[in-house]
Amino acid sequence: MDNFRSEVILSGKIASPGLVMGKAHIFDQQTERVSNGQSNSGDIQIEKKKIDHALQKVITELYNIAHFAGRNAKDKQALNIIEAQKEITNDPDLYKKMIRLIEKKSFNAAQAVHQAFQTYINLIEKSDKDFVISRLPDVKDIRDRLIRNIQQSVMISSFHKNAIIIARELSPTDIVLLARHNVSGAVVDFGGLTSHAAIIANSMGIPMIIDTKIASKTVRDGDLVVINGPKPELIVRPNSSRKKYFKQLIAQRKEVLKKEVNDEIIPSTTRCGKKFKLRANIEFEEEFKNIKKYNAAGIGLMRTESFFFNDGESGLKIEKQERFYESALKHSGEEPLTIRLFDVGGDKLFEDDKTEANPFLGWRGIRILLDHRELLRSQLEAILKVSGRYPNRCRILVPMICSIEEIKLVRSELVNAISRFKSLGIPYDEFIKLGIMVEVPSVAVMAEAYAEHVDFFSIGTNDLTQYTLAVDRGNNLISHLYQQMNPAVWQMIRMTSEAAHKKNIEVCVCGELASNPFAALILIGLGIDDLSMAPIFVPAVKRILHHHDMQQIKDLTQQVMEATDMTRINELIEHWKSSMN
Ligand code: PEP
Ligand code: MG
Repeated sequence: MDNFRSEVILSGKIASPGLVMGKAHIFDQQTERVSNGQSNSGDIQIEKKKIDHALQKVITELYNIAHFAGRNAKDKQALNIIEAQKEITNDPDLYKKMIRLIEKKSFNAAQAVHQAFQTYINLIEKSDKDFVISRLPDVKDIRDRLIRNIQQSVMISSFHKNAIIIARELSPTDIVLLARHNVSGAVVDFGGLTSHAAIIANSMGIPMIIDTKIASKTVRDGDLVVINGPKPELIVRPNSSRKKYFKQLIAQRKEVLKKEVNDEIIPSTTRCGKKFKLRANIEFEEEFKNIKKYNAAGIGLMRTESFFFNDGESGLKIEKQERFYESALKHSGEEPLTIRLFDVGGDKLFEDDKTEANPFLGWRGIRILLDHRELLRSQLEAILKVSGRYPNRCRILVPMICSIEEIKLVRSELVNAISRFKSLGIPYDEFIKLGIMVEVPSVAVMAEAYAEHVDFFSIGTNDLTQYTLAVDRGNNLISHLYQQMNPAVWQMIRMTSEAAHKKNIEVCVCGELASNPFAALILIGLGIDDLSMAPIFVPAVKRILHHHDMQQIKDLTQQVMEATDMTRINELIEHWKSSMN
């Protein structure tokens, strides 16, 4: 009988836990074929340009992936790995080698990349240090990306729905991209438990089995496979009784999750009945499904940098934006959709990337949009158009506001766009709300004045923390100082909330702080009952909030507001945790 038809159980190691069943997709990661012919273009300059262009594209890809990883990974390791890959891509020696091969040996661009990297790979392979050897997949990944970009081929072909990826090995960047393509699991022949890909799979929540040795040779494209959760095994082509068993088990687990997120079991109220809203932070289309899955109340923060990064300028086409916003609205029930204007710059790439000594204190967010009005106008137009089809649903959120003048400029662009719509008879939502991110201390301390000019505040604690404490949010050397619950940050939040209430405008929190259950209690205690977070955190935050009544919350909040150092805050957290047991 054909070996490829019977059930096989492979064992390996669990790199990332989870139980999933799906169709296998064999991810063939062999080096892209590089033609042996001489330079096709016959023009050295053109071949050199191809290298420059591919390098730029790969840097963009890495920024894009880092951006995605940063938002979704539980830790910063994913970002570090991608940082290291950026360094390889920018290595001047490698670049010189590639150019020399084109100039002196008439190599075409792809050959030059392949040859230059081969020398580098040979060196790594000779190393006796595990740490150096473990970099190999990352280096090969960059080589393949460059060649792929030169050959303009597509990185990932279409996957089966909820595919389980089977590969010899996977690079960290592959894992991030796979997550974006909705794969439900990954299995590799090789790799260690502390390999980079394993770390990222874990933080992205993708079940993964490693070290199977033969998975990529045993499984065929389209085979049904099961990653068997608690056990370190991959079941290939399960027999009918096992298939039935896993189907039931997976359904049971889904049911448990559903119960956990279901409002009937845990309503969005405190124990004493005060209502709150827990919304979703969303950036990629792939995440829309999580709104329902985790029962979030619509989208409290829709970041819009992603499709800008993905497609460069073409991603900005108004129709494309409209489709994205409309799709977001369809996934958010009757709830409002808060669309944040492009927040590029800082750690988020902008095509005209300028070299800045302090990018986080530089040209980012609204500063770029006011210098590139065409971007601002195109986005306002797309949002307005969609708002006409979905009245009372869209809200516009402006990032990185640092002055009232900036708000006035944005407001006047909005007013101009509206009068254009009026004169052309295009429908739009005449009550569309304009709000600002409160993520810079100057805005928090003057919040009352800012409240006169906007319809709502959204507190971005990720940036508010870095700007209040002078701690770069992406710098590992000082990550212990990056404290979103620092008393100074709490005071900024309190001031903002008080100002919003005094001036009768809405206020919400959309930074990572909102996803911390203890912090969520304090935010509610400060009168902020609209919290937005990665949807996966919604059930746990809801459970904790529902467990407390307002008196307990108010007492806790008062203690936090009286704290003057982190030691006291940590004591309060510990005390609270022990009271929960
Ligand atoms: C923030 O700064 O808290 C925020 C939500 O925005 P981002 O993380 O996109 O900068
Ligand atoms: Mg921010």
